[in-house]
Amino acid sequence: MPLSESQIDELLARIRQRLVLLEQEIAGKLGEASEEFSAFDRIGDSGDLSSILTESELDMSEVLRDIEEWRGLRGSLRRIDESTYGVCVDCGCEIPFERLQANPMALRCIDCQMRAERREHSPHPTL
Ligand SMILES: [Zn+2]
Repeated sequence: MPLSESQIDELLARIRQRLVLLEQEIAGKLGEASEEFSAFDRIGDSGDLSSILTESELDMSEVLRDIEEWRGLRGSLRRIDESTYGVCVDCGCEIPFERLQANPMALRCIDCQMRAERREHSPHPTL
């Protein structure tokens, strides 16, 4: 069953809430909390993180994780806009609502996700 409007609304609310939290966290960690998230203009959706992060002496692994999640969630918002949200990018089946609730930025159904993880074995698995 495709996602209903109320299900999408619920996920949307969840994603937005999480984005706000992440932005606060990232901004705080980058020490730019008072600068209107100027870092985000530089991070964007594909900016070079290493150049931003090497400017800082902090341990950035946590921030990196946050930024990856932030990007993933922004991607979800985009897909909701494009009405491609909730559809597995690999097999095109509908991703169950329960899975999206647990992981709003899931790109794949569980089967394809497991296959992708086996395939990639990368230190930064895409979701
Ligand atoms: Zn799939």
